Amino acid sequence: EPIQGEGGVRTPLAEYLRQVRALCDKYDALLIFDEIQTGMGRTGSFYAYEMYGAAPDIVTLAKGLAGGVPIGAFVVTEKVAAAFHAGDHGSTFGGNPLACAAANVVLDTIADEDFLSTVKSVGAHFKQALMDLQEKFAEHITEVRGAGLILGMEMKQSKDAAAIARLMLERGVIINCTAGNVLRFIPPLIFTKNEVDELIGILERCILDICEQGGL
Ligand SMILES: *Cc1c(COP(=O)(O)O)cnc(C)c1O
Repeated sequence: EPIQGEGGVRTPLAEYLRQVRALCDKYDALLIFDEIQTGMGRTGSFYAYEMYGAAPDIVTLAKGLAGGVPIGAFVVTEKVAAAFHAGDHGSTFGGNPLACAAANVVLDTIADEDFLSTVKSVGAHFKQALMDLQEKFAEHITEVRGAGLILGMEMKQSKDAAAIARLMLERGVIINCTAGNVLRFIPPLIFTKNEVDELIGILERCILDICEQGGL
């Protein structure tokens, strides 16, 4: 994954991915990026790898690809495609016309530059608001990372992270806790700055209630 999702929103150095690309070229190995979480405009680019300047030979997509209608895709370069023949890569529901029609609508929507630039600007606003919280609660929050609308806030204590995710749910906001101590934010791509502000208000309240007042 160009940015690890379940792994705790870990962002690599661009140089790391470029070196992996160079090693794959050197040894004639295929480079596969799993962009199931990071693709489909999530980071503000269509694919996250575009930000890093290291293109893979194969990309996997799913989740956001058809906006909730179940679909997965395995996208390859022309060179890799030449190794496939019809029927080599079968799946019971592969080529499902309903799912493909939904994916076409999503692709038309997301491939729009204005749509992607909104994801970038709402994401930047969100990340700044999380960094402001980090400054306020420096004893409890160790790092804010991510790009576009895949953001993570690393808590010093796993128990705080888990308690915050639970309390947020009670207060109507679904976030989750990945890698033990990282709160992960992956809202719908139509998220607005006002919704970011509303979420941050609730989050701040939860942090105050849990970290500052010594737990529930
Ligand atoms: C959800 C997810 C998968 C699994 O996708 P399926 O379509 O269920 O196979 C794989 N990789 C990442 C990063 C995911 O988030």
